[in-house]
Amino acid sequence: MSSRRVKRAFKYRFYPTPEQAAELSRTFGCVRLVYNKALAARSEAWRQRGERVTYNASSAMLTAWKRTEELAFLNEVSSVPLQQALRHLQAAFTNFFAKRARYPRFKCKKKTRDSAVYTRSAFCMRGGELYLAKMAGSLRVVWSRPLPEGAEPSTVTVSRDAAGRWFVSLLCTDIPEAAPPTDRAVALDAGVASLVTLSTGEKVANPKHERRDRNRLARAQRELSRKQKGSNNRAKARRAVARVHARISDRRKDFLHKLSTRLVRENQVVVIEDLSVRNMVKNRSLARAISDASWRMLRNMLEYKAAWRGRELVVVDRFFPSTRLCSACGALRERLPVDVREWGCGCGAVHDRDVNAAINIKAAGLAASACGDGVRPRRESSRTGRSSVKQELQRVTAGISGF
Ligand SMILES: [Zn+2]
Repeated sequence: MSSRRVKRAFKYRFYPTPEQAAELSRTFGCVRLVYNKALAARSEAWRQRGERVTYNASSAMLTAWKRTEELAFLNEVSSVPLQQALRHLQAAFTNFFAKRARYPRFKCKKKTRDSAVYTRSAFCMRGGELYLAKMAGSLRVVWSRPLPEGAEPSTVTVSRDAAGRWFVSLLCTDIPEAAPPTDRAVALDAGVASLVTLSTGEKVANPKHERRDRNRLARAQRELSRKQKGSNNRAKARRAVARVHARISDRRKDFLHKLSTRLVRENQVVVIEDLSVRNMVKNRSLARAISDASWRMLRNMLEYKAAWRGRELVVVDRFFPSTRLCSACGALRERLPVDVREWGCGCGAVHDRDVNAAINIKAAGLAASACGDGVRPRRESSRTGRSSVKQELQRVTAGISGF
């Protein structure tokens, strides 16, 4: 339990020099081009002749392209990110053939996030500085948190988001320590007004400033819709929207990291609902959409953090009416309109709607945890949590090894 090794990505912001920015932009462009050309070639082979092009065959194509006059510029950037683009494409096809994903799509400049992946032969760490192949000088990275002791990154991913910010993500092997055992357990009920309600009665509000940021986002989007297509002003307005989006999502992520770390540290068992079964299409407001995305992110963080720290995450199906069930006596209310935030049961108990639901979720989760794998609620131990971390990493490292 104590010497489990996991792969962890450490992401930092960096500020390239104008020369580095130009070189990286060129690299992003070449990565996109190689990916799209290889995709076109593979699609043609598949549609016209029913042939599957292997990674090796597409790699040979790349070598041939580099020899032609019109694609000779591909030689000017590091060859590693180009090879990685082919590996990503290979992984996308593997997922498609295994029916795990849709048919791979072309990378479009406006919609795809710019990124380039460097493996060990194309970067090095020297004296705490990061150097990339074909790049003058080290990258000015803001090391906002330390890398694990003695960490040797296996992959470096450089990216630029729609708001024009640069990031570098280093994939390292880490040995997480199990948290000290405790007998505490907690359950979470997801909401919109407060992000989550805990079975302890605590309500976790949405991050500060979010309402204001959301209004700003709406305003920026209105501005964008008024600008003429293809104009300079429109491009500017699009960047403004992206900046507000980035700010909201950064604050959210930061907030959810703190919350999930705390919940996993304080509790042996964390119980959540499986919201994927809930009908969430009814109210597609911006607030709703953001809170759904947050919930998915929180669940994901809880899964891998529980796995790291040797905690248990139990996911219960929402098969039972957690809201209408009295957590004191077990009586079931017939109906409970959405706007009723507080209700009294015949047994004399007075419930806060969300706290009561969280308490019921906790009871269901602990019952499931104690009796092992029931049909439902489904039990999702840290073991499955780990497997989803693995899937995540497979996405990250797709193509670097293992297919
Ligand atoms: Zn009751």
